[in-house]
Amino acid sequence: MHGFTLAFLIALALSAATRLWLARRHIRHIAANRETVPAEFSGRISLAAHRKAADYATVKTRLGMLETLAAAAVLLAFTLGGGLQLLSDAWSRVLEAGGYAHGIAMIVSVAFISSILDLPFSLYRTFVIEARFGFNRMGLAVFFVDLAKAAAVAALFGIPLAFCTLWLMAKTGNLWWLYVWLTWVAFNLLVVTIYPTLIAPLFNKFTPLDDAGLRSRIESLLARCGFRARGVFLMDSSKRSSHGNAYFTGFGAAKRIVLFDTLVSRLAPPEIEAVLAHELGHFSRHHVWKRMAVLFGASLALLWVLGWLLEQDWFYASLGVRSPGTAMALILFFMVAPAFTFMLQPLASLYSRRHEFEADAFAARHADAGALAQALVNLYQDNAATLTPDPLHSAFYDSHPPALQRIARLQHAGIGETLP
Ligand SMILES: [Zn+2]
Repeated sequence: MHGFTLAFLIALALSAATRLWLARRHIRHIAANRETVPAEFSGRISLAAHRKAADYATVKTRLGMLETLAAAAVLLAFTLGGGLQLLSDAWSRVLEAGGYAHGIAMIVSVAFISSILDLPFSLYRTFVIEARFGFNRMGLAVFFVDLAKAAAVAALFGIPLAFCTLWLMAKTGNLWWLYVWLTWVAFNLLVVTIYPTLIAPLFNKFTPLDDAGLRSRIESLLARCGFRARGVFLMDSSKRSSHGNAYFTGFGAAKRIVLFDTLVSRLAPPEIEAVLAHELGHFSRHHVWKRMAVLFGASLALLWVLGWLLEQDWFYASLGVRSPGTAMALILFFMVAPAFTFMLQPLASLYSRRHEFEADAFAARHADAGALAQALVNLYQDNAATLTPDPLHSAFYDSHPPALQRIARLQHAGIGETLP
């Protein structure tokens, strides 16, 4: 066996085992706390809601365990099982092996097969789990129309990008990874720029917020924070799900504020204002740019590594591939890399949670900290988010700090503000 085959198998086994172990801990911790609402929330969240959140988290985590096993099996089938080689041979019968068309056919078919394999999981998640807990509001027709639209958008942007990448890899010599990286950065910025006005409206309807009271409240918050945005929009998310949220999108003066209609219908105006102040905090502390910088830095490092691996015969041979090539290298690399980078997940989560605390602190300064705490309690209850995650599971994955910690800090901030 090749040394790298062994390294890959160990990394894959380790990451899958860690995922399963964390999931089991999470389920056990939630079960142990299912019968008592944490003292800090007693009177604010009912035992029935607490139990519902526990059951919801448990079934989602169980499905996640199944997905972990399925993903590992699919990865092995594609690589050591010879799936990628089989695909490459099949396309070679109709397209010139190693040509652009062959490369793009490979990339598209791998993406297609992966999404077909993922379909049973997303169907089960939406129509069994979300439906059972009363969150799903979409029928099969909307689900499949969304899927078709997403595939069309992915093809429209993805195929030209794949062609550009393969072309640069073939034509620009040893520094191809740098040119590809610059192209990806430009592409990413383009998508972020056109997303709010061209892509998001394909899936949802956006209408200017017409509630005058809420709008003037939001406008005065924006003025207080010295923030300019091009409009506050209501998104018809209730068409698909009853989960609530709010976000900012776009760049510079073209920024838009988007409120899910489900959020507006469930929170009181001061709470909505506090949630928006939190989102403003992300902008004011440049979290969007910082996250993008980390993402761009990581992709530069990955492409540099790929630039080296691409030249090594053992890279292909040790992963079940007999026909090396640029498209094959890209596919193999982005399939196999997550097994090696999984252990960095806690760092990414930690970074994200630090941003959430900073945004909460910003909200506590510019809006009502108590209203934000109340909004969080309401959102936790409405979204059936568990209040008692396993601490290790949470440290590993959670992009947001546990409710208890966030609310404790907000209460502290609230008291601090009322002191002379
Ligand atoms: Zn946030």
